[in-house]
Amino acid sequence: MEDCLFCKMVNGEITPDKVYEDDQVLAFRDINPQAPVHVLIVPKRHIATLNDLQPEDRETMGSLFIAAKKVAEQEGVAERGYRTLINCNREGGQVVFHVHLHLVGGRPMGWPPG
Ligand code: AMP
Ligand code: ZN
Repeated sequence: MEDCLFCKMVNGEITPDKVYEDDQVLAFRDINPQAPVHVLIVPKRHIATLNDLQPEDRETMGSLFIAAKKVAEQEGVAERGYRTLINCNREGGQVVFHVHLHLVGGRPMGWPPG
């Protein structure tokens, strides 16, 4: 996808602060961290929002969570705990329209989210 920030990171046009990569996903630090650990995990294939998911995206979406587990271990928050979330569209708070799983941790998380 032209003009998609996260596609540019996947194809190397922009260099993110990478923390993990495999054949399905790329994970990098959020530029505006909301917690001591704030990593974004994105599918390498462009999917705009959760509303655009197709049955063939099952494996890719599962890969986001397998990667999250690895990143949490790598970042030292697996045992104490962390949060994963995906924002969808305007009221969900999505501003980058390439699906991404936020992994936040390193401090207690509040509930409900604002
Ligand atoms: P969302 O609001 O769920 O769409 O999340 C988008 C996230 O992307 C925000 O947390 C931003 O801080 C983050 N972000 C925007 N630009 C960059 C960038 N160049 N590198 C890393 N993270 C970014
Ligand atoms: Zn994209």
